[in-house]
Amino acid sequence: MDPQKAYVLRTVEERGVRLIRLWFTDVVGQMKSFAISPAELESAFDEGMQFDGSAIDGFSRIQESDVLARPDAGTFELLPWGQTDETAARMFCDITNLDGTPFEGDPRHVLKRNLDRARERGFSFYVAPEMEFFYFADGEGHGRPPVPLDTGSYFDLTTADVASDLRKRTIHTLEAMGIPVEYSFHEDSPSQHEIDLRYTDALTMADNVMTFRLVVREIAMERGAYATFMPKPLSDVQGSGMHTHMSLGEGDTNAFADAGDPYRLSKVGRGFIAGLLEHAPEITAVTNQLVNSYKRLIPGTEAPAHVSWARNNRSALVRVPVTKSGKDSSVRIEYRAPDPACNPYLAFSVVLAAGLKGIDEGYDLPAETTTNVFELTPAERAAEGLRELPQSLAEALDVMERSELVAETLGEHIFSWFIRNKRNEWSDYKAQVTPYELERYLPTW
Ligand code: GLU
Ligand code: MG
Ligand code: MG
Repeated sequence: MDPQKAYVLRTVEERGVRLIRLWFTDVVGQMKSFAISPAELESAFDEGMQFDGSAIDGFSRIQESDVLARPDAGTFELLPWGQTDETAARMFCDITNLDGTPFEGDPRHVLKRNLDRARERGFSFYVAPEMEFFYFADGEGHGRPPVPLDTGSYFDLTTADVASDLRKRTIHTLEAMGIPVEYSFHEDSPSQHEIDLRYTDALTMADNVMTFRLVVREIAMERGAYATFMPKPLSDVQGSGMHTHMSLGEGDTNAFADAGDPYRLSKVGRGFIAGLLEHAPEITAVTNQLVNSYKRLIPGTEAPAHVSWARNNRSALVRVPVTKSGKDSSVRIEYRAPDPACNPYLAFSVVLAAGLKGIDEGYDLPAETTTNVFELTPAERAAEGLRELPQSLAEALDVMERSELVAETLGEHIFSWFIRNKRNEWSDYKAQVTPYELERYLPTW
């Protein structure tokens, strides 16, 4: 038997695990789960667990809706919460059709397929996201303005407040689940926090992001608060991003690094950035998938609104962080558009595909933008050739719909499902009369 499966079976027995949760992700990035008992485990490994996919957005076509969940033994972890007498564990699953072929509505499969393509060229894809989010007091009822738990700001050490205690407990739980944290701190806005995960290969990280969002919420809930990854929950302060640091490994080396280059970037690294810049508007609907995402991407905050790159410039879309260690291994590219409400499997897939395209086609890297893009007039920006990112979900979907790159990366099933689903979200939103409109127009018109 496969040693990882044997390890799982042994651990379940030795640790007295009562429940094994099988996790997977739908197209919009919501976690789905069902539980099996240890008695089912062997057959789950051998044959997969059949379930009705029609309950899950994006996974079903009414007539042929049964699919199989096949647990990935390498993702087995004990769940460090819940009752102690009910030890539970989880595994992420791959979803297949009944004949064993990969199910095309499974985002995890999309990422695996794109990672295979990178591997055929000799590249492994590593990522490290900076996860930003807000804590709010519970009990206000959704639909009303949320109430922050603290009034701290960037890097504030807020002593003994609820939010920093929540953050600390979250980090301990993540580490207990094998998810190492590199940094954590109070972000700029009231009750906004950031936890930066230590880089891993992109598949592990997509799983980690799913676990992360659950852990953050779970711990907040235990303390009577709630956490949100909504990109822009408060109007007047900055929103939450998921800046994603990326590199390509080639054998034992970092394919982005060239110590002799003034930017310390190799031809591969430059090509990757050029690809990201060229295709950024097309992939934005995937990295920023909510109506609300576009309220974060506005000029003047620390989120990007234009297509540009720089070494150290918070208005840039792509940043090449200057690293103090000067080691090749630390050379990386930071893509600043994504927000933490994205589907990480799909988001990592499209950024990788855009970067690889830039390498393969030998795109030229435009000049670095050293000025603050937000301070330029529209005419100056146009003169510098700085394009805007899409201004709304509707615009982002228009560009995505014309993108061969995104269609190919996501596969026809998810591509068309995503566009249909998100167009519906936009038309629902468009029909809403908002508090802003009532306040502004009702008294005067
Ligand atoms: N919160 C900002 C964003 O929306 C990022 C702040 C930072 O530079 O970490 O992207
Ligand atoms: Mg930050
Ligand atoms: Mg950053």
